[in-house]
Amino acid sequence: MKCFSHSTVDAVGICKSCGRGLCRECVAEVGLGCSCRGRCEADVATLNDLVERGRTAYQKTSATFFRSGIFVTMLGTIFGLVGWIGIRGGSRAPWSYFLLLIGLIFACWGISHFVSARKMSQK
Ligand SMILES: [Zn+2]
Ligand SMILES: [Zn+2]
Repeated sequence: MKCFSHSTVDAVGICKSCGRGLCRECVAEVGLGCSCRGRCEADVATLNDLVERGRTAYQKTSATFFRSGIFVTMLGTIFGLVGWIGIRGGSRAPWSYFLLLIGLIFACWGISHFVSARKMSQK
């Protein structure tokens, strides 16, 4: 590939914004990417910024899932325990079974949150 502006010179990089070939004279490094010197620097900087922001948002989502996972699992444990104690205490009231069931659902829900959080942080 040749430089866009200097058709006899080999390109050393490709502009991240417009995709043109750039020789040593025309290339500008912006963060992890190359850009046309004096033309696309701002665009590439914006692109890099977006990528960076997307990455932190991803981590934030994972942390949020983890936190809500803890919360939901705790809630499930409390519901389940209250139901379990009710049943063990000889109460045949339907609410005990209902609470135990709710507790189980919450626990499963919490575990699914943990799994999602793990999957996200691994990527
Ligand atoms: Zn460019
Ligand atoms: Zn050039």
